[in-house]
Amino acid sequence: MRFLPSHPDEFAPFVENRTHMFQLQNGMWFGCDCLSKFGKPCPICDYNRAAWKKWGREEGRNHVLGKYKPKYISNVLIVRNPNAPDTEGKVFRFEYGPLVMKMISDAMTDHEDQEAGLIKGFNPFDWKTGANFVFEGVQVGKFTKNDSSHFGSQKPINKWNGKSYVELTDEEIDEVESKLYTLADCEHKEEDVKDYQGILDAYLAKNGAPLFEGQVQNAPVAAPATSTSVDDEPSFTPNSAASTDEEITDTDDFFSKLANG
Ligand SMILES: [Zn+2]
Repeated sequence: MRFLPSHPDEFAPFVENRTHMFQLQNGMWFGCDCLSKFGKPCPICDYNRAAWKKWGREEGRNHVLGKYKPKYISNVLIVRNPNAPDTEGKVFRFEYGPLVMKMISDAMTDHEDQEAGLIKGFNPFDWKTGANFVFEGVQVGKFTKNDSSHFGSQKPINKWNGKSYVELTDEEIDEVESKLYTLADCEHKEEDVKDYQGILDAYLAKNGAPLFEGQVQNAPVAAPATSTSVDDEPSFTPNSAASTDEEITDTDDFFSKLANG
């Protein structure tokens, strides 16, 4: 697949959301946006900082709540997909985690290769000087691991004609560009998410005891951070006429629906 430039009306080829999600002692799940995304103090992060400080590196693990997980969303073109050939040539919103984001930022950074010498960084989102991204999801138990995904060599955007990769014509590029999604509508806005007190209130309502009761002493036991691989499980939203405003507005639900089925 191919990461695509931003929609003509927007500037960034990706948006980021940060969420906390963890299990409370009573078995219920608690989730909220992490306010650090907006440069604001976040009660869950504050709690975790205090817990690390109080219990230290080893013991702290048993007391901290779920760290925030960044999720990124970009437009991608499916160049070739033997598992689902009907998706080839289509534009999707692609949601991905820190692992794929690191591959993007590594690709953008100049680095020294033992054999090849200096390898110049490039912009993977560029029509002409980007590169195809070979996305490999390996099923491990119920998680998908993406470690072996990687960028191919730099070349203009292309399509798979069944035998080889063929460069897109300018007309075909225009066509792809016309199908780009806007991404700003997927980004959680500060005014739409719970503020500091709102998170404390929601936590109290679900947990039955406040987050900061007796300082950090009554720490709810958080589920250990075992779900790292599932965080990188991406999901796709087809850019088709069928995607209504309703689906786009409620992205969380929409993405989770896709992820679950
Ligand atoms: Zn936070």
